[in-house]
Amino acid sequence: MAVEGRDIYNLTAGELAIDTPLYIQAEVGKTLHLNKYTPVAGLSELRANIAMKARTFYHQDWIESANVVVTAGVKPALYAALMAIINPGDEVIVPVPAWVSYHSLIELAGGVVVEVALSDSFDLDVNAVGAKITTRTKAIIINSPHNPTGSIFSQMSMEKMVDLLRDKAVTVIADDIYSKLVYDPEFVSIGSYDFDKLVIVNGFSKSQALTGWRIGYLIGEKEIAQAVANLLSHTMGNASVPSQQAALAALAQNDVPQALPQLIKQRQLVVEGLMRIPRLKYHLPGGAFYVFLNIRDITVDSAKWCEELLVKKGVALVPGEAFSAPGFARLSFVADEATLLKALALMSEFVRGD
Ligand code: PLP
Repeated sequence: MAVEGRDIYNLTAGELAIDTPLYIQAEVGKTLHLNKYTPVAGLSELRANIAMKARTFYHQDWIESANVVVTAGVKPALYAALMAIINPGDEVIVPVPAWVSYHSLIELAGGVVVEVALSDSFDLDVNAVGAKITTRTKAIIINSPHNPTGSIFSQMSMEKMVDLLRDKAVTVIADDIYSKLVYDPEFVSIGSYDFDKLVIVNGFSKSQALTGWRIGYLIGEKEIAQAVANLLSHTMGNASVPSQQAALAALAQNDVPQALPQLIKQRQLVVEGLMRIPRLKYHLPGGAFYVFLNIRDITVDSAKWCEELLVKKGVALVPGEAFSAPGFARLSFVADEATLLKALALMSEFVRGD
């Protein structure tokens, strides 16, 4: 529709709008002559730096270089982790709503997805998780800040989860991709808790505006890290050299993501606009850059609702069906202020039926 000349207000972005930060461009520019394979698990300097930062960030003394595998983004890290952990038919618990790729990644690895709904306030429902654990349960994927809700899971629910999983052979896979995009000071990463079996996946995509560079990493016990590296050695190989250099540059900057102050303003603008639209319910996101709209007072057919919103008003959201949550729609506030304001005005008209 945009190509046909329609004004489209696109609130579907899953990535920052800014270019590659200049300090990363400058550092990587100095290393473009480097063209050789690196160790499959990544440059030793990068693994050491990731381990050092992670020890502090997660308060986990056991993390060393040997626990780290650098990957071409979080997706291959998740896929390799699932391949390493589960056998065909094993169950993996996924709190829903959930990011679109978990189901496919689990099924590609031969596993069976077991969905557990988040609570109404988008927190982990630990009792519901407990009710779904069987002898086949091998892992649970926990993502906080959470896509698509922007929620950060409460410390109380995480502590209950530690108790629930104690002495169980269930690996917590912490998808921490949004862990640097946080607005709520209450946030504590899942990776900081004392789970018996923990794998952390994280990366530079979302916080450092490096989505297209494809660079992330996995942290796990040595056997898992080794199994993941073995798998990658025959499939994807090492993450690209410039991207590993970009990650080194990003780690050398010990600051909050450049984009955070702007995102805070955009979040504010969006929630103020949404407050004025009746029948749309939402929770203030504590992290990431999404607001998950509850449109159940209007319809549960969010796919149809989003399509009509797009066709009639030119506003694009992602329908909740994509996240196993009909009756919801994801709004990404990675857009300039003029676009956000116009989109909110058009959404308001649409909900009123104008
Ligand atoms: N995990 C979550 C929750 C995401 O939202 C995304 C991207 O949208 C990813 C993982 C994928 O990250 P990457 O681009 O580093 O593969």
